Amino acid sequence: MDAVVIGAGIAGLTAAATLANRNLRTLVLERHNVPGGCASFYQRDGYRFDVGATLAGGFGARGVHRLLNAHLAMDVSCESFEPAMIVHLPDEPVVRYGDRRWLAERLRVFGPAAEPFWRAQERIADLAWDFSMRFPALPADLPGALALARAFRPHHLPLLGTLGRTVASILPVAASQRLRSFVDAQLLITAQGPADRIDLAYGSTALDLAREGTFHLPDGIATIAVALARTVRRTGSAIHYNTSVAAIETARGRVTGVRLEDGSRIAAPRVVSAIPVGNAMTLCPALRRSLQRRVAALPQRWGAFVLYCGLPPNVVPDDLPLHHQVVTSYDRMLGEGNTVFLSFSGSNEARRARNGGRAVTLSTHTDVARWERAYRDDGLAELRSTYTEALLAGLDRVVPGARRRATLIEPADPHTFARYTGRLRGLVGGLPQTPQVATLGALSHHTAVGGLFLCGDTTFPGQSTVGATLSGYNAGRAAAF
Ligand SMILES: Cc1cc2nc3c(=O)[nH]c(=O)nc-3n(C[C@H](O)[C@H](O)[C@H](O)COP(=O)(O)OP(=O)(O)OC[C@H]3O[C@@H](n4cnc5c(N)ncnc54)[C@H](O)[C@@H]3O)c2cc1C
Repeated sequence: MDAVVIGAGIAGLTAAATLANRNLRTLVLERHNVPGGCASFYQRDGYRFDVGATLAGGFGARGVHRLLNAHLAMDVSCESFEPAMIVHLPDEPVVRYGDRRWLAERLRVFGPAAEPFWRAQERIADLAWDFSMRFPALPADLPGALALARAFRPHHLPLLGTLGRTVASILPVAASQRLRSFVDAQLLITAQGPADRIDLAYGSTALDLAREGTFHLPDGIATIAVALARTVRRTGSAIHYNTSVAAIETARGRVTGVRLEDGSRIAAPRVVSAIPVGNAMTLCPALRRSLQRRVAALPQRWGAFVLYCGLPPNVVPDDLPLHHQVVTSYDRMLGEGNTVFLSFSGSNEARRARNGGRAVTLSTHTDVARWERAYRDDGLAELRSTYTEALLAGLDRVVPGARRRATLIEPADPHTFARYTGRLRGLVGGLPQTPQVATLGALSHHTAVGGLFLCGDTTFPGQSTVGATLSGYNAGRAAAF
């Protein structure tokens, strides 16, 4: 084997496809029986649910998925749609258009006083998108520094002025509660934290998701992973499912291969770890020694509570947009059932729900420590039922009466994610993109161990299928160098 990739999530499959595309014989090892990780699917009672990620960006003109699809000769069919979502604030729904209607909508809801904020956000986002479509990587070594320098253009200079600042620094001093809550809620799902914690450049692009284009994949978001897996196999490489890596082996500061849970070994001069960095450290003492201080300081705490809900035909109106965010109260904290993200399968997606029904994925951010405490104190069932209630209330807010009609309701909490994706403590969604963690502060794909590379949503540039794709491409490209 020329290379081993650990994990067949979006990051690992992208790394493998990049390596295979450069004629390196690559083996992907995946502990689960399907590809996709947090952007995968499961089937139950005639419904096919997206397990985590539901909303795809990155297929627009400047999008990372679109650029990489062309590069790897991959065909992922998708359609852009409008509006991206409806955000149901406690007193007002906000339609998140990506086109010119967004100007009228934001003026209606937030007034002209918020315009300098939105204009600054769009200006910064335009520069950051332009920079990111050149596939920048963090400059951990000479090739990395050259890649970063090649991506940088004189017109990107204003991005340097965003370093160390948060999104809150461009909010009007007297911003209304409505504007602050809207921005915080949107940043929570795209950057994992509120405006006063999130890096300005990262947050500006995160708030730009609708303008860059949102896309519908007819069989759900797992279509991306399935297409990547096909590309890996087509180029002569292989994926072994139900295969868990127990250790990354090293000798004299270089990686030598991996040991599997059954005790067998696979030798390889390059290993790409496409699992969260915390997981990778448990597999490799040399990596742990080099990163433990840095990783201990990372602001990781988010897990997800998710409900998979099957609805029969004629419950959801055909013309209802597919994605919604509900904010129940302005006075309570974000996540923890107070903000809920809901995604419906389309009205004519027979493969996702029988006879015109709908497969719905509802989720809320939650602190994993809550679930660990509940497990210790025997309070899991109660916590699950509290969160289930909160999410079903969110469903009823979007489609009144829908919860009574549901034919299937299944919950997943951080323990479920830990079980099915192997992610340590069930931590998902990457890291809150604070100025210390985002962009130049992010973890690089390079490590102190020769031949060992990292990718996935805990490394640069961060969460989402787009972030995981860029990180996987960077790791694959560096490993093949
Ligand atoms: C509830 C939820 C909602 C989200 N919503 C969105 C959204 O709408 N849009 C969006 O773009 N993103 C969304 N995200 C984020 C997005 O899903 C992730 O950032 C991205 O999919 C992470 O990909 P990854 O490859 O880095 O990691 P993962 O998806 O975690 O993949 C890692 C893979 O490695 C495997 N693995 C782990 N340990 C081992 C081992 N020892 N040996 C072998 N294999 C191993 C796992 O089984 C898994 O398949 C959401 C995430 C969640 C949880």
